[in-house]
Amino acid sequence: MENGKVLVVPVFISHEGCPYRCVFCSQPDINGANRRADENRIRRILRDYLEPTDQLGRFARREIAFYGGSFTGLPDARQEFLLTLVRPWIDKARVHAIRVSTHPLMVNRNNLERLKAHKVETVELGVQSTDPEVLKLSGRPCSLDELRRTVSLIREFGFKLGLQLMLGLPVDSEERFVRSVSDVVALAPDFARLYPTLVLRHTPLHEMYRQGRYVPWTLERTLDALKGALKSFDRAGIPVVRVGLQPDPSLTENFVAGPFHPSLRYLADCRIGLDRMITEIECLDQIPKRVLFKVPLKSVSIYIGNRRENIIQLKERFGLDEVRLSGEVHCRQIELVA
Ligand code: SF4
Repeated sequence: MENGKVLVVPVFISHEGCPYRCVFCSQPDINGANRRADENRIRRILRDYLEPTDQLGRFARREIAFYGGSFTGLPDARQEFLLTLVRPWIDKARVHAIRVSTHPLMVNRNNLERLKAHKVETVELGVQSTDPEVLKLSGRPCSLDELRRTVSLIREFGFKLGLQLMLGLPVDSEERFVRSVSDVVALAPDFARLYPTLVLRHTPLHEMYRQGRYVPWTLERTLDALKGALKSFDRAGIPVVRVGLQPDPSLTENFVAGPFHPSLRYLADCRIGLDRMITEIECLDQIPKRVLFKVPLKSVSIYIGNRRENIIQLKERFGLDEVRLSGEVHCRQIELVA
């Protein structure tokens, strides 16, 4: 068994249950009526992922995830139907738990009770920002107090909680994003996800972009802001399980502008790696000509940097002749040894 590995079986309910119109969201039909997740397709997805027993043994945990809509905004009968559809896989012990994502304003006691009864373990909320002006211009009516109330209700029921944030929304700024991050950290979720704002076709944001009313963040600006956010979550012991959107065909087809990069997390982590090496060197009384860092084996590439960028920058900044890295299996954090 691959230690600690989790198989997530994604069931997309494309915008079903959502009464909102966030400016960045590319839903063609606000109620999702044209894209309703069809029963046969869901059954097929579950069979494809969960029937091959040789596959299953490789994962310590298997979970079914309802993504892409506001699950708790679905009519009661539809929620019940979807949860009942996946139930046999739980009863057969092929799946350990279910996770759903939803809008913070679509959560109440009734639907949390239903989720609990159907073995849902994790609820993810799209927060996106906690700044009132950013939220207003993004078409997301949810105050920080309303978010706090939803979070404590989810906690009261004992669910695991995931919170999602976006950066670079209309009128967002570094300062506002930092505040959003610290508001989310204060809510102490079990995990977080971070997404840069991209301009996609068929969205209000695309129209704003075409009229010059929205300018997407550059990749540089995004990476700097992500670096700060990742550090804050790390200090608080909150894992960030995803940074940036998956480069799937529908994204590629609809992408217009914005800081898209398939390895956003890696690039942000490289910047954190560079900062750590700089701090280590700056702590020395005298800057030597050659330095050797011991780093965790699995993190060597983030310390080297994309295209050896970190090594080049360190040499330039401190006038070094040589920067060497030694990847160590038992090393937990960076150590400057020479
Ligand atoms: S709440 Fe979610 S599904 Fe609804 S419009 Fe906003 S991003 Fe799209």
